[in-house]
Amino acid sequence: MNRQAILDSLKTEEPFDLLIIGGGATGCGIAVDAASRGLRVALAEKNDFAEGTSSKSTKLVHGGVRYLEMAVKKLDRAQYHLVREALFERGVFLKNAPHLAHRVPLVTPLYHWWEVPYVFAGLVLYDVLAGRLGLGKSRLVGGKEAKKRFPMLRGENLKAGVIYYDGQFHDARMAVTLVLTARKYGAAIANHVEVVSLDQRDGKLCGARVRDSIGGEEFAIRARCIVNAAGPFADRIRQMDDPAAQPVLEAASGIHIILSGRFVPPDTGLLIPKTEDGRVLFVLPWQGHALIGTTDTPVGIVEHPRAQENEIEYVLRHINRYFDLSVGRGDVLAAWSGLRPLVKFDASANTAQQVREHLLMHSPSGLITMAGGKWTSYRKMAEEAVDQAIASAGLRASGPCRTLDLKLIGAEHFSPDIFRVLTRDYGIDEEVARHLQNAFGDQAPSVARLAESGFSARLHPDHPYIEAEVIYAARHEFAQRASDALTRRTSLAIVDNAAARAALPRVVELMAGELGWDGERRQQETALAVERLRDSA
Ligand SMILES: Cc1cc2nc3c(=O)[nH]c(=O)nc-3n(C[C@H](O)[C@H](O)[C@H](O)COP(=O)(O)OP(=O)(O)OC[C@H]3O[C@@H](n4cnc5c(N)ncnc54)[C@H](O)[C@@H]3O)c2cc1C
Repeated sequence: MNRQAILDSLKTEEPFDLLIIGGGATGCGIAVDAASRGLRVALAEKNDFAEGTSSKSTKLVHGGVRYLEMAVKKLDRAQYHLVREALFERGVFLKNAPHLAHRVPLVTPLYHWWEVPYVFAGLVLYDVLAGRLGLGKSRLVGGKEAKKRFPMLRGENLKAGVIYYDGQFHDARMAVTLVLTARKYGAAIANHVEVVSLDQRDGKLCGARVRDSIGGEEFAIRARCIVNAAGPFADRIRQMDDPAAQPVLEAASGIHIILSGRFVPPDTGLLIPKTEDGRVLFVLPWQGHALIGTTDTPVGIVEHPRAQENEIEYVLRHINRYFDLSVGRGDVLAAWSGLRPLVKFDASANTAQQVREHLLMHSPSGLITMAGGKWTSYRKMAEEAVDQAIASAGLRASGPCRTLDLKLIGAEHFSPDIFRVLTRDYGIDEEVARHLQNAFGDQAPSVARLAESGFSARLHPDHPYIEAEVIYAARHEFAQRASDALTRRTSLAIVDNAAARAALPRVVELMAGELGWDGERRQQETALAVERLRDSA
């Protein structure tokens, strides 16, 4: 994609209706909502889309069984409402992005008879709250059946299991899909563009100064209204608006580890209901691997957090307690950390107990801040933020929110049989074809055509990602750096750090061909990608 054209689209004299700061779940969702209501939208993301928390999630589209437990235990209506709303959004999410999200059965193992009624009743309540958007009825099964569904599970003393359903998705590809959808409705969007200050006229915000972190150019973006969707960094943006603003966010690090696919059945997950610190832990099939997490460690707000060895040990310790297979540090293919932006609703509660509700704020100068929440609820959060922007800045939209039924790019003509077309018409092998179908939906044939033109080789022999995806990412999906392609357009670095290192030289070569990098730029990009690969080592 032509970088200069992307940057020029942000420099219009005519102010945008909305400038969104941050291209994670929140910002990208707001861009789709606002642009599809006919507003003129700009979005600036300082790194890559979803490079922050939004590519480091557990990748569940869920109501949150843990929040439900808290709702029941504490008779807390807010938690209860949160679960019900998230379950509704779960249904909408799966409907509007069927290529990127699907339902997944999860086994909850029970080793004590007294747990059985408690857990089963809780999960039945979860189904009831989901109502007509439920994904399937929870079932109580015996220990033998639980072990059959999840054979790695420790069999000794296993009394029973509850099988329930949630959604699972691809977070980083969801973000880029939202970007492409917003662009279809006319939004001007750029990654690797940082907001460095906000501009005011007569006490009201009227735009921002931004810096292109690739070319170094600084320029202004003019806007009638500014939405702060900077995730854990939202307080920094609030303080650009008002240096005296009190912080409202704190952060907790959540890590995940990736193991090979032999540690999880291909289509069933596991919920470990109680860790030593009273949390839940998931073992999920994801991209042909086992995705395991997460933790909840209070930390400072830093750029590019990394999984710490003691956090990795914590996860491995629990897996070894619940598995018949033994798992060691050498089995870990990748490990990464994401920062939860937690809203300080109650300073006395510890981070595991705080409600993952979002926060919408509006400053006297007109800055709208949307923070907290979860991926599952991104659509609803976006609707609230855009309603607020329209009301407070007097923007003229073409109509009310449209996103309840708005199919995202790749979804409109999606069918679960697209992979057959790819194998039959383009000679793509079935594993790669299924992967392309799930990553690109109805756009997969475009990637297959590129593959046919000489880019069908795999980036690494153990993984289904192919060279055509890198070309497609650079041409159509805003990939500007090698790590954008390795980590978020494909997921190679997320699932297998060593494989991503091995593929890096070829990825740089492919991107250099597309984006016109000279020798010096190739070296810089390689060094940067090596540095970023340390984040998931
Ligand atoms: C470990 C973990 C597991 C999770 N699992 C789930 C799950 O399974 N399901 C679920 O629904 N939710 C889950 N969540 C929650 C979900 O991931 C987050 O709520 C969501 O990703 C937050 O998105 P965001 O856009 O607000 O923040 P971010 O993704 O952090 O995005 C903010 C963006 O703003 C950019 N930015 C900051 N400052 C500037 C600036 N000055 N200029 C331009 N850009 C800027 C950042 O670079 C960043 O990309 C999980 C969270 C964590 C941490």
